[in-house]
Amino acid sequence: MCGRPWQRSRHSTFPRRHRRRRHHETAGDVTMKGEHRKIPVGVSRCLLGEAVRYDGRDRRNPYVTGCLDERFRWIPVCPEVEIGLGIPRPPIRIERREGVVRLVMPDGNLDLTERMTTYARNRVAELADAGIRGFLLKKRSPSCGLLGVDVHGGDRIDPTGTGFFAAALRSRFPNMPLAQEDTLDDPLLRETFILQVQIYDHFRKWREGKPTPKGLQRFHMAHRHLLRHTPRIDQALGRIATQGEVFPDLLDTYETMLMAALARPEGARKPGTSRTPPRSIERTDPTNFEPDPFESSETR
Ligand code: SF4
Repeated sequence: MCGRPWQRSRHSTFPRRHRRRRHHETAGDVTMKGEHRKIPVGVSRCLLGEAVRYDGRDRRNPYVTGCLDERFRWIPVCPEVEIGLGIPRPPIRIERREGVVRLVMPDGNLDLTERMTTYARNRVAELADAGIRGFLLKKRSPSCGLLGVDVHGGDRIDPTGTGFFAAALRSRFPNMPLAQEDTLDDPLLRETFILQVQIYDHFRKWREGKPTPKGLQRFHMAHRHLLRHTPRIDQALGRIATQGEVFPDLLDTYETMLMAALARPEGARKPGTSRTPPRSIERTDPTNFEPDPFESSETR
């Protein structure tokens, strides 16, 4: 079960006193007709149960086809099939050659780097036009993996790579929530991803309208209870929100800091917690407002 963030208790991101207001705020996900509006989110196609993997199988994820399906309108993408590789197909991998990473199919010594790079650039542009608000990726894939992908170099394997399509996604959408499938196995990280997507959707919708200084202040006041575990970022965002004009640069900064703050699960930051840091939910934090004790090369 996914659990609605405002209904959760032990791991709740939301304090009890905010529940009524929070429910009202998330009413942005309900259409004028009272229908639930599903947020468009990209997904690696094999996670939906489609047999598109190199071995002709799927990697159906029960959360993707279950409770998350009630909230998100999935936009399926399989980069390897979309660049013309068949099903089944010989496996591909990332190799470091003369210091440069390449996407290759060892069987046949095929270099797919240019084909995948061009495809990924065009595909993420299409996804931007479709208004996606997040992406759920298959882990360890040389195309879709976000973190911890094997990079082969000689007789060594460096397990810190990023798949080619995932890298293009991050480059095009620096603040958009991206997560790997194993994020969903942890209730707190799952809840964090859902929350990130919801708030990112709220902010983008507001931003795509006619942003005004007052509107930004209202947005900040309506969402600041989510930032109580990062008070310094809350204060910095508050200062941004009270500036007299709304410039694109200022909105970019606000968006970056907001999403970086939301990427920090509250439960993982409590002193003395035994929770392990999130490994598969990518966090972008170009700010130095509040050093994160869990920040490591693994989580980047
Ligand atoms: S991991 Fe990505 S490229 Fe591989 S089968 Fe799944 S969707 Fe296709």
